[in-house]
Amino acid sequence: MATGAADAHLPSDVAPAQFRPMSSARPHGARAVEQRRALGHHPIAAQRERNARIREQVEAIAQTAITQSPSATSEGAVDVIGVIPANTRETTRLPAATRRIFLSRLAERLRAVFSTVPTSDAAAMTAQSIAAMDPPPSDRADAATILGLSCGTCRGECCTAGGDHAFLRADSLTRVREQHPEANEGALLASYAAYLPTRHYRGSCVYHTTAGCALPRAMRSNICNRYLCGGLTQLKRALESVEGNAAFVGAADSVHLRRMARIDVHGAKPISLK
Ligand code: SF4
Ligand code: SF4
Repeated sequence: MATGAADAHLPSDVAPAQFRPMSSARPHGARAVEQRRALGHHPIAAQRERNARIREQVEAIAQTAITQSPSATSEGAVDVIGVIPANTRETTRLPAATRRIFLSRLAERLRAVFSTVPTSDAAAMTAQSIAAMDPPPSDRADAATILGLSCGTCRGECCTAGGDHAFLRADSLTRVREQHPEANEGALLASYAAYLPTRHYRGSCVYHTTAGCALPRAMRSNICNRYLCGGLTQLKRALESVEGNAAFVGAADSVHLRRMARIDVHGAKPISLK
């Protein structure tokens, strides 16, 4: 995905860019210290400062990886840098109470959706029309793959906002209903219940697991299928603006860089932070 919703992301001033050595663009040394002092202790300024530091760390690690192991990048690769959020939660059993709340809310919403006349004549949607409602995150297939793998490196921080509702509101449920004209209200509810996992990330969306979202894409909410956080949006822009076909991606919480990987269409190779 972009798997989910609320933006726990790093602010937009930390734009990914085509990878370049540490000596370029960003102020260093005394000038950087002076700028940081001028920013004072405002929380937003402090967060920007932390984000800038994390980005510098990602750039430095990428530079070291390239220097120590030129094979870290393949021939013809155009690497960009990206900084995205990091989910650092532990997993736990999906609490029975959360499951109950989710299903009871979903039942109410399905009741409301099924109480209206379908907007279409309930003809099954074609694969093409479903795809049109669920566009890939980039027109370029390789960039879309890299963005998807980046979400895997993040482990779905935005899904934490899915809580006990998974963003399944009337618009999404109406679409799902139209995609499954053969299913009645009870059948759809049963289907959503069947996909609930035994374990999920503590305090996160009911469907958020270590393997990603437990729901098939077509059953996810519209927002889940379309959402790109700030960091991923910047990574997308960077990939598209320089025809990038690979990325060094750092996943960070609001304080620390937690994970890093070099990602291309063939997969994500984790980079040790030790
Ligand atoms: S990187 Fe992907 S999974 Fe992580 S917060 Fe951004 S959109 Fe969500
Ligand atoms: S349903 Fe939940 S886990 Fe799945 S993409 Fe949406 S927020 Fe994430």
